This record gives sequence, structure tokens and C-alpha cells, in this order.
Amino acid sequence: MGGLGVSVIVLGLKFAAYWVTGSVALYSDALETTINVVGALTALIALWFSEQPADANHPYGHQKAEYISAAVEAFMVVATAFAIGREAYFGWQNRALPRPRSSASRLMPPPESSICFGRCS
Ligand SMILES: [Zn+2]
Repeated sequence: MGGLGVSVIVLGLKFAAYWVTGSVALYSDALETTINVVGALTALIALWFSEQPADANHPYGHQKAEYISAAVEAFMVVATAFAIGREAYFGWQNRALPRPRSSASRLMPPPESSICFGRCS
């Protein structure tokens, strides 16, 4: 459980870094960490569920809950891969530098002044 708490803190830091920089790389890393956190929670719930004794509805026990957990993890990995791929594709099409979002821009110098040569909108 301690590892889960650390993961949640790391997740918050990564999303904060993405919010400040607008970087797709940080966005993808934050999403990947989200999978880790949600996947760990799902696995914990599935473990608890699978240890429950057999009952009238489930005479062979509840071990198959772990397969549901694995399927949820697989779905999240695929969905996240599409989300990251979409960001990368449109980011590539627009050819814009990562840019700070809203009020976070005050924390960073404007990138176009040094790198864009006036072509960044
Ligand atoms: Zn049951």
C-alpha cells in the first residue's frame, strides 16, 4: 500500500509537469503512471475478491476475478496507447513546440522568442 501512495504522489507531479510544460512526452508518461496506479488498485481489489470463499453463486470460488483484473489492465494499456498515439500524431501535424498552459505560462519564458523565429503562432 505504501508503494501505491508513492505512485499517487509521482502521478500528481507528472501531471503538474505536463500542465506546466504542455509536453506530450510528459503527458504520455503521466498516463502510463495512471495505468500503474489504477492497475495496482484493480489488482488489490481482485486479490481481495479472489480470496473470498466459494458461495452459492460461485461454487468454484472467486479466483477468476484475477482474470477480470488482467483484462481491465489490458484495456487500459490499449486505450492509453491510442490516446498517446493521438497526441503524438496531432502534435506532429501541428509542429508546435510544447507550450505552457494558461497561467502556468508565467512560470516559463515564452519558447518562441528563442527557438521559433517568429513562425510559432
Ligand atoms: Zn460469489
